[in-house]
This record gives sequence, structure tokens and C-alpha cells, in this order.
Amino acid sequence: METPYLIQVSGACRGCGACVDQCDRDNLTIVDGRAVPREGYVCVGCRDCVKWCPTRALSLAPARPPTSFIRAR
Ligand code: SF4
Ligand code: SF4
Repeated sequence: METPYLIQVSGACRGCGACVDQCDRDNLTIVDGRAVPREGYVCVGCRDCVKWCPTRALSLAPARPPTSFIRAR
């Protein structure tokens, strides 16, 4: 399954691990004191990790741009 959302970790990450604990899908790990998405992760966009990050280091982005709306004629 392709991930619907990309996880982005900014330089504000302090490696506290709160996001690792919050993700039910085990999408994140800590490498060299910083949160890193695991290879092959599938993020469903629940935002639990985003909400619990004390430094607001996490953000999500759609993996694909929204399809343009085509009006039916
Ligand atoms: S948004 Fe939800 S599924 Fe995605 S990495 Fe964060 S906690 Fe996990
Ligand atoms: S919760 Fe925030 S500061 Fe803590 S490890 Fe995750 S991204 Fe880094």
C-alpha cells in the first residue's frame, strides 16, 4: 500500500520519542537523536504524532496532489 501522507520532520525535533509512542502504525523511529519515518511506512493521517510533538516538528503532506475537480456536463 502506498502511503497517503508523507511525514515531514523539521530541525526542531529533539528526539523525545513522543511521536514514536503515539503512532499506532509504528511509522516512526529515532535515529541519531531525531525522529525518522520507517522505510515503507503507511501514514493514515490521524495526526496523533503531530498533536503530541512538544516542539511542533512534525507535519504531514498529501503524497499525491489532489485530483482536479471535473465538472460533469
Ligand atoms: S499521522 Fe498518525 S499514522 Fe501518520 S505517522 Fe502520525 S501517528 Fe502515525
Ligand atoms: S515528538 Fe517531536 S520532538 Fe519528539 S521525537 Fe517526535 S518529532 Fe521529535
